[in-house]
Amino acid sequence: MNDNKIDLESDSNLEAFYGLPRQVKFCCRCVMSNQRPASAVEFRHTIDSKKETLAFDEDGVCDACRVAEAKEKIDWKSREDQLLELLDKYRRNDGQYDCIVPGSGGKDSCYQSHVLKYKYGMNPLTVTWPPILYTDYGYENWKNWIDVGGFDNLSFRRNGRVMKLLTRLSIENLFHPFQTFILGQKNLGPKLAAKLGIPLVFYGENEAEYGNPIADTSTSLRSKSFHTYQNVDEVFLGGVSIRELRDRYDLSINDLTAFLPAPAEEIARTDVQVHYLGYYLKWTPQEVYYYAVDHCGFKARPFRTQGTYSKYNSIDDKIDDLHYWTTFIKFGIGRATYDASQEIRNRHLTREEGVALVKRFDGEFPDRYIDDVMDYLEMDREQFIAMADRFRSPHLWRRSEGGEWQLRHHVE
Ligand SMILES: [Zn+2]
Repeated sequence: MNDNKIDLESDSNLEAFYGLPRQVKFCCRCVMSNQRPASAVEFRHTIDSKKETLAFDEDGVCDACRVAEAKEKIDWKSREDQLLELLDKYRRNDGQYDCIVPGSGGKDSCYQSHVLKYKYGMNPLTVTWPPILYTDYGYENWKNWIDVGGFDNLSFRRNGRVMKLLTRLSIENLFHPFQTFILGQKNLGPKLAAKLGIPLVFYGENEAEYGNPIADTSTSLRSKSFHTYQNVDEVFLGGVSIRELRDRYDLSINDLTAFLPAPAEEIARTDVQVHYLGYYLKWTPQEVYYYAVDHCGFKARPFRTQGTYSKYNSIDDKIDDLHYWTTFIKFGIGRATYDASQEIRNRHLTREEGVALVKRFDGEFPDRYIDDVMDYLEMDREQFIAMADRFRSPHLWRRSEGGEWQLRHHVE
């Protein structure tokens, strides 16, 4: 006990990267730590960004658990009535699209588009910013979404050379291999809505379900800051300013436009509204998964995802497994921690089971696709693993006497 106390005291002097809280705490209900960064505006991200992190209250409960608790008390019938009122205002029966559902054919986009079209009689256009490197079953799920579910789809293939460069830069500068995917996933829907004159865009769950500020759940609308910009000088891709991308990497603004958010005045002029369907309909990942299986031919990954115990979420991009490994390096939070916390909040797991799963799987190195990913990036595996050490925050990591990296704090 005493040893532990001494250790904690000395830890408080250690440097914390990314603006993370120096003192590490774990939620007493789920298994998430206070190091979890909130989803931020992706295109402002630089190595100097200070992260907002998951808040805990005086009882040691995290905001995401409080949101889950509040969800139990929501009058979902009245929320659905609000949705019907919105849809009644915009529904089109003349062949024109009335809403956009962005997605890659995962369980959430299947569910969103399917209920909008077949339960509520909307005419959605689905739009896809494809994964960086499709898995076979991810591609199959995307096809089934369109062919079995029955939707029109626009799939946007961006400039592959620029995509690769930006993905490399986001790794080298931010250790964030998934940034180019997130940018497209957040921006493409609203941008196409403005261009095509489609008034509504529907995403699934609000980021606050996983730990963004609770106040964000008080509206169905997603903040425009996520998908619009005022001044291109404020935008960074791969942690590099647009000016530097032009000067140093010889890219033109035409090369970069596909990766940029929408200009704020364009969204304002066209009055595009971006809503979370999860505000109106009660969202349980496991139920959404069963729905996608039944209605869109969705199939889980044929094997366990490395770094966790699950099989059915975020499985369409080979690079996604690596993404969760980088969160383990930067924040000490691996994929099993994300999955188990969500399932504890939905009462599919006890906290004790969650702790055991975290101990067993968190931080497992995802080697199944690593060679494909490194080939794509034209990067060397050893070089990538060595790069990780630059991003390990001293307040989270120490080296054992044998030279092994070890986390200083574990969920108990
Ligand atoms: Zn919690």
